[in-house]
This record gives sequence, C-alpha cells and structure tokens, in this order.
Amino acid sequence: MTERTYLDHNATAPIRPAAADALAKALADTGNGSSVHGEGRAARGRIDAARKSVAALVGADPRGVVFTSCGTEADTLALVPEVTRGGEALSCDVLLTTAVEHAGVLRGHRFAPEAVEFLPVDARGRLRLDALDEALARHAEAGRRALVSVMLANNETGVIQPVAEAARRAHATGAVVHSDAVQAAGRIPIEIGVLGVDMLSLSAHKIGGAPGAGALVFADPDMRVKPVFAGGAQERGLRAGSENVPSIAAFGVAAAAAKADLESEVSRIGALRDGLESALRCEFPELVLLVGDVERLPNTSCLALPGVPAETLVIALDLAGVAVSAGAACSSGKVGPSHVLSAMGVPEKIARSAVRMSFGWSSTQEDVNRALGAFRRVLPGLLRRARAA
Ligand code: PLP
Repeated sequence: MTERTYLDHNATAPIRPAAADALAKALADTGNGSSVHGEGRAARGRIDAARKSVAALVGADPRGVVFTSCGTEADTLALVPEVTRGGEALSCDVLLTTAVEHAGVLRGHRFAPEAVEFLPVDARGRLRLDALDEALARHAEAGRRALVSVMLANNETGVIQPVAEAARRAHATGAVVHSDAVQAAGRIPIEIGVLGVDMLSLSAHKIGGAPGAGALVFADPDMRVKPVFAGGAQERGLRAGSENVPSIAAFGVAAAAAKADLESEVSRIGALRDGLESALRCEFPELVLLVGDVERLPNTSCLALPGVPAETLVIALDLAGVAVSAGAACSSGKVGPSHVLSAMGVPEKIARSAVRMSFGWSSTQEDVNRALGAFRRVLPGLLRRARAA
C-alpha cells in the first residue's frame, strides 16, 4: 500500500504511542476502580493519575473532572436544566447556544426543543455578542435563567469563539456557562479559570488518546448537574457505571503529552498548515480559503474549490493517498451544505465544495509535501471538468 497522508485530526487523531502503551497495559490488567483489593486499587490509581493530567491540560482542579465515554456524553451531561452551583440549586429555563455548534450540543440534549435558542454568528462564524446580550437581557427580564453553551473552537473551520467575553456577560445575568472544548483542547492553551466558564467538555480521541473516554470538567468541583444515568456512585455520582479504565488511562497519558509540548506544537503545526495553504493558493488561485483572516486553531484549514463538489475532491484525494474531510454535513446518505458555513452566510456553491484539512501531533513536512503532490495530480482535471460543466 502506498504511504498515506492523514489530514483529518479533527475527526479523530492517531493514538499517540505512549497512550497506546498505557491502553495495552491497562487492558492486560484486571481491576474495577471501585474494588478494594490490589487489582481494584491499581485501576483506581490509573484513573486518579489520568484525572490529574486531564485537569492539568485545562488548568482545572482534578476533583472537577468527571470522566464520560466521549465528548458527546460530556455535552449531554452538561446540557440539563437542573444545576447546583455554589450550594444553590438553580433551574435553567433556556439553553442559549450558537448556530455553529457540533451536533453534540445542537440537539440541546435534556432541554425541551422549545427551550433551545440558537444565537447567530458573524460572517466568520464568531458568536455575535450583541445577539447574546439581547437574548440574556430578554430572558432575565422575563425571570428566566439561561444556560449558555458556546464552543471554544469550531470543528469545521477552527474558528475560536469569544468564550471568555461571552461567559463574563452571561454570568452577569446569573446564567450558567458551558463550553465544548473538544477541538480546542491540546491545540491551544486552555485555562478554565481564564475562560471563566462553569463547565468544559473534552474528548480523548481528538488529542491522541483512545476512543471511549471524554470528560466534563467543572471549574468548581462542588458544582453538580443532574446525571444522565442512575446507578453507582462512580465519578462523584455524576456518571454511574464502571469506568473504562484503559481508555481513561490512555486519555491521561495523551493529555500529559499534549500539554508537555503544546507551545512548540502550536507553532510547528501552524507552520505546516500555513505552508500548505499558501502553496495551494499560490498554485491554484481558484481555491477559496474560508476564515483565513480570523483567530482560528493552528491545525485546521477549510478550503473550497467552487464548482467541484466536496465529496468529489475528498474521494479524489483519498485515491491519491490523502485523507481529508468534506465540510458538508453528511447523514443518511444525503450531503447538504454544512450548517456551520450556512450560518456564516457562505454562498451555497462555495459551501458545497468546502473541504477540511486538519493536522496534529503526527503531522510532518513530508505529509505537506505529499498532500501538495496529490492536489497537483487531482486538481487540474477537476477544475477542467468544473469549467466545462
Ligand atoms: N464537539 C465537537 C466540537 C466535536 O468536534 C466533536 C467530534 O467531532 C464532539 C463534540 C463529539 O466528540 P465525541 O466524538 O468524543 O463524541
């Protein structure tokens, strides 16, 4: 098989070798983290070590980390009307979120559909703070408490949201604040205290851990939300069920590795991404770079070749050995323009041709060279066909 170039870290990152080791070691050992014997204590030790590393990745108190099975479950746990903060039981009447969230948040989870309000974004996909202010004031005036959920970085475009400012404004009205940091974690520095949010969602498989683990991180370890499952007292009673020790152990190792070289990786990965973007734009002026002029993750690139359907380009690149994603939402076999690009007002012709390339810990200059070679092989033909159509 020819060498593959994997540029889809935002879908899932390759597992880091140290995380794969931790996974294998924990799988080989028996032990339930709730058992008192030696095997159980060893499993508990792995969970506790992971809790410390995951907390450190986002500057949190380890006691505030609740392990889940994935980012979606962390979002589900967070998005519920029943919250206890500062010893006070609060009831959130509405969920205010943005039109560009991942499906993990867009569904509104345990809020009734009529209690979910989607806030608009600007042409670059950033939350419109004026719309947030208006909604917060409208609900506060009517005596309704809001739970505000704003993603830290977008999975399709990498655009970074003004979460700290949104949290400040929301808290001033008594709202509770959550942020889905699944894509931002391990890609930019995060301090939960600086962001000022109450809860943060994370996912292991986006940072080089194994699938099967995520976390909801509370800024205040005493804060509680209504659990999704009823059962045992694992995870402070917030997530019943025996912990997935191997995936949690690997999550901890991946979080520690991501934190250890975050600063140098931000510039290394940013340079790879920027190098590929500028070479492509220089050789193929038809390519449109979406959101190139706004603060975004260093690893994500969203490009469109107007007239060439995204899935056509994705398949052509795949055959040429390069894995990228379509920016279009694909479910039940139907491909439509992405809700993110639609919310930004990107014209449909461009939105339908948007592809995402995303880099990460395993990416190298060799990947950039091979991707460039693949684009050179496939684009001229696709462009000719698009012009003839
Ligand atoms: N939130 C964002 C922004 C994502 O990109 C994803 C996955 O793509 C999720 C949540 C869901 O994470 P998981 O796949 O761990 O459920």
